Amino acid sequence: MNMIKGSCLCGGIHYSSHLNPLSTAVCHCSDCQKQTGSAFSVNLLVQAEGFLVQGAGLGCYAKAGGSGLPVRRYFCTRCGSALYSEITAMPGVLAVKAGTLAEPANTPPNLHLWCASAQPWVVIDRSLPCFEQAPTE
Ligand SMILES: [Zn+2]
Ligand SMILES: [Zn+2]
Repeated sequence: MNMIKGSCLCGGIHYSSHLNPLSTAVCHCSDCQKQTGSAFSVNLLVQAEGFLVQGAGLGCYAKAGGSGLPVRRYFCTRCGSALYSEITAMPGVLAVKAGTLAEPANTPPNLHLWCASAQPWVVIDRSLPCFEQAPTE
């Protein structure tokens, strides 16, 4: 049974993993705002091991993240959906864009990252752990 599965908007790319996600992090960094065209991204942190991607047209854009190390952002080149990121500063873990999950309601957020760059009108649940940047920095 796949614990995690999802796809892009056009359905050309599917992903899955048989492992449980580690957590769900809302990221308010300006790069996530740009990439998603929204106020933040919701990232399901999953183990890279066992994460399967199927389909054609996966694109990748790499840019240095807050750590100075590259973040590789994967997306569908046909429909433009942001799918997941490889964060060099977090080896072995992928950040899957929760809006692409088949069942996003099952994995509500556990923490907030980069609150320092959050849009002022976003209401952050301060009962969750909130980091001004990333917790490793
Ligand atoms: Zn697509
Ligand atoms: Zn981010």
